[in-house]
Amino acid sequence: MLNCREMSELGSDIIDSHLGLRTRMAVFMHLRMCSRCNRYIKQLKLTSQVLQQLPLQDEAVDSQAILKKIQALD
Ligand SMILES: [Zn+2]
Repeated sequence: MLNCREMSELGSDIIDSHLGLRTRMAVFMHLRMCSRCNRYIKQLKLTSQVLQQLPLQDEAVDSQAILKKIQALD
């Protein structure tokens, strides 16, 4: 069984679905009983969705604008 620290270490791997079946199951089980990680993963997903929607630019990404978008989605 995964603990919360392991969940946060897996982080973007969970979003990118780079996990094997066993790990995915463990993640799924953990998310069912841990609202904190549920929220954490949800935020990660939203963040990656917003990042994908951003046009590619050489300028530094405006993190404030991203945060606002995420909050609007939540
Ligand atoms: Zn947890």
